[in-house]
Amino acid sequence: MSEPSIFTRIRNGEIPSEIVAETENVFAIRDIAPQAPVHLLVIPKSEEYRNVVELAAGDPDLLAEVVGVANSLAAEHADGDFRLVFNTGPRAGQTVFHVHAHVLAGGLEEESLG
Ligand code: 5GP
Repeated sequence: MSEPSIFTRIRNGEIPSEIVAETENVFAIRDIAPQAPVHLLVIPKSEEYRNVVELAAGDPDLLAEVVGVANSLAAEHADGDFRLVFNTGPRAGQTVFHVHAHVLAGGLEEESLG
């Protein structure tokens, strides 16, 4: 059996990090290295899916739950608008292979939004 992911270890309390939201299947934490005024990670409790492509194919309802929690967090922690980023694959910057959504919000008007 493979080692639990860093996110599972956080959820289990082995690594300290405040859980800022939790539903039946999903939890959220603050990113340790924020890239925006609000930078949260929304993470399925299950480690079954390594990335968003696997999650979308395997459990679209769980993906929808991730998006719903992201939306609620953006309303709670910022003005409601947000970026939702799923780095997918190491060459796209993915470092943790337990699917998670980056929720980036607050002050985004000061950045180049492309
Ligand atoms: P990825 O690079 O896989 O898309 O995203 C992984 C994210 O997890 C990174 O933004 C990184 O800063 C965050 N991260 C890594 N280790 C920890 C940790 O121990 N605690 C928290 N809160 N975030 C972490």
